Amino acid sequence: MTRLIEEALFASTDPVMLAGSVCARCSAHVFPEQTSCPMCTGVDVSRVALPTTGVVWSWTTQHFAPKAPYRTDEFAPFSIGYVDLGPVIVEGWLLGRTSWTIGEPVRLALTKAWTDDDGQIVYTYGFEAAS
Ligand SMILES: [Zn+2]
Repeated sequence: MTRLIEEALFASTDPVMLAGSVCARCSAHVFPEQTSCPMCTGVDVSRVALPTTGVVWSWTTQHFAPKAPYRTDEFAPFSIGYVDLGPVIVEGWLLGRTSWTIGEPVRLALTKAWTDDDGQIVYTYGFEAAS
């Protein structure tokens, strides 16, 4: 069983898919899932699996370790981006390198967040280059 940073963020882990919500009234998609719509305040929302591919909408690279509660086994510079999945823009790690291009295709992936005290790896989501 995969230990996740927060189970509610995921619709599935194999294949990895994020869970958001969609509003029946205005079709707005939200991530993470919410019980009401932030666009129209409607409460007729349902859980939905989000697309797993998108494009980099914006990004930055952090060259210093953030303070707690940020947690990692060892620090290395890392990229954070906003990824446009189509119906919604999601923030997450950009994996594998520290330089990106706006509009570049990426796909969702599971990645190690840290190792728990009992030796189990805790996973979170990120996006890797798709080309
Ligand atoms: Zn709505």
